[in-house]
Amino acid sequence: MSSVLNRIRYGFGSLALKMQRIKARGRSVSPLGWRGDILAPPLKIGVFTKEIVARHYLEGRYVEGVKPVAWVTSGAPVEMLKALGFYVLYPENHAALCGVRRVVGEISQEAEKVGYSSDLCSYARTDLGMVISGKTPVGRLPKPDLLLACTNICQTVLFWYKVLSEHYRVPLVVVDTPFVYDRVGEHSVEYVKRQIEGIIPVAERVSRRELKFSKLREVLELSKKAAELWLEIIRRGKYKPAPISVFDQFIHMAPIVEMRGDVVTVDFYHRMLSEIDERIKNGVGTVLRERKRLLWDNLPIWYRLRFLSEFLAERGISVVVSTYTNAWGELAPIMDPDRPIESMARAYIHPILNRGTGHKLDTMMRMVKEYDLDGVILHSDRSCKPYSIGQVDQRNRLAEIIPSLILEADHSDPRSYSEEQVLARLSAFVEVLGD
Ligand code: SF4
Repeated sequence: MSSVLNRIRYGFGSLALKMQRIKARGRSVSPLGWRGDILAPPLKIGVFTKEIVARHYLEGRYVEGVKPVAWVTSGAPVEMLKALGFYVLYPENHAALCGVRRVVGEISQEAEKVGYSSDLCSYARTDLGMVISGKTPVGRLPKPDLLLACTNICQTVLFWYKVLSEHYRVPLVVVDTPFVYDRVGEHSVEYVKRQIEGIIPVAERVSRRELKFSKLREVLELSKKAAELWLEIIRRGKYKPAPISVFDQFIHMAPIVEMRGDVVTVDFYHRMLSEIDERIKNGVGTVLRERKRLLWDNLPIWYRLRFLSEFLAERGISVVVSTYTNAWGELAPIMDPDRPIESMARAYIHPILNRGTGHKLDTMMRMVKEYDLDGVILHSDRSCKPYSIGQVDQRNRLAEIIPSLILEADHSDPRSYSEEQVLARLSAFVEVLGD
């Protein structure tokens, strides 16, 4: 009975969100606000972004009893869960949303009060704080029936998900990906492949469904298509002036992270790409008077996107490419729907965080040339140690060819952020960039 009620509630809510989008059609909506004297109008696709993210969390509110629920890490091989009809929640994405809404301090304190160290990643603290207190800006999150953690981003997720598994008393499947120092050996691919195969019986048992390989192929095809479109969007940053900035990418990356394998995600990025191409055709740059172009390394500072975007745009600086957003597109060529599990093993072993620091340096060096950049900002993220390690050496190597700055902050916890320090460093960096 409750599942019928939940379906009805979700149906009404979803319809209301669609109506909002139809009413707003053609208007520009920016969650960051908009300074028309320094920035182009926000992308019209923003209305759709708002709708699909809101719909995703709305479904989460009413999904219990309707679909099986899985919580997964951002780099987890999620396609078979989608093929089995799971509702998939990404606690990291939810924590990023909490960062944008500036509630991370309050929620993560709930975890700190019971003993979790403030040195722990703020995504983990936010999620554990939400589990303990139920606090979330999206109403409520569904409880998991299954947990899937992949170590291709960090080891924090391993212990974080163990805590979740004990708390909810649900199965945890771990996919352990050997670190890639140089090249990936075939034995490593085989090792990951077997673990991905091992997800299937557990997920089938939890969902009480049987995996159809034709469905898995279809989902992987959609994942690949969405990642290809995302990569194309990122590559449009090579145009001068750049039609979108990394701040736009940060705002519109939620679907590629948490809705991979969905039809709506492919449709969304098709539309976004068309809108960007229209800007290119009309010579519209996201920063109205672009004179310098930068790279951003590491996660965004979610709670200061608007401040940073405006501070830089006021000075004619466009941040046109980022190693972070690129990570969600660069694996697209490896995905092969005709060899789903083997190609998933290859793709999911390769994320930037599972590779040596030299690989990230090479990526940044390549971007400096391909995007014709004038400088690099490396966000040293207090939370994300695996992304930040090696940045001093990387900065030193980059500084041999281009002005490079390390900016210290935290991706979602404003208690580890000093506006004065960031302002001072950025102002000095702008001077170094020159006219
Ligand atoms: S430590 Fe980094 S990779 Fe790991 S969960 Fe936190 S932000 Fe993600």
